[in-house]
Amino acid sequence: MRKARVFIAFLMLFSVMSAVSHASDTIPLSCMHKKTYLLHISNVIKGCEKSEVSLARQKILFANAIRKYGSVAKASRWVSPPYVSHHPWGVAIDVNYPDEPVGAGWLELHGFKFGLCRVFENEWWHFEPVIAPGWKCPKLVPDATYSVD
Ligand SMILES: [Zn+2]
Repeated sequence: MRKARVFIAFLMLFSVMSAVSHASDTIPLSCMHKKTYLLHISNVIKGCEKSEVSLARQKILFANAIRKYGSVAKASRWVSPPYVSHHPWGVAIDVNYPDEPVGAGWLELHGFKFGLCRVFENEWWHFEPVIAPGWKCPKLVPDATYSVD
């Protein structure tokens, strides 16, 4: 029963985190179709269709990272480009708010029970559903440039 409550609490947290990332989108939005990868620009808040993902937030994060690290190659070690990142697809979560490692530490130990694993050596906060619940998480890759779709 306790495991079920923890799992439900985690799902609720994951859906809230996903909603927060979409709530920060601003217009115009770059929307990418999930199957065809075609882009369209929406001038309406929350203007992406259900068949699309919004790349606006990831675009801003990547642009900021290029300014911070000085090149696309160096920035890509910390923030994936919008077409590569798993965050806009809703299949990655960063547990580092506000720069607090306790939650991420707990998830690194127990995430495998829910199919969630830390994937990058350089990002203690980044988790993805890469295994079936209860399986062993794969070995960490050095950084986001090793991310495989
Ligand atoms: Zn992340």
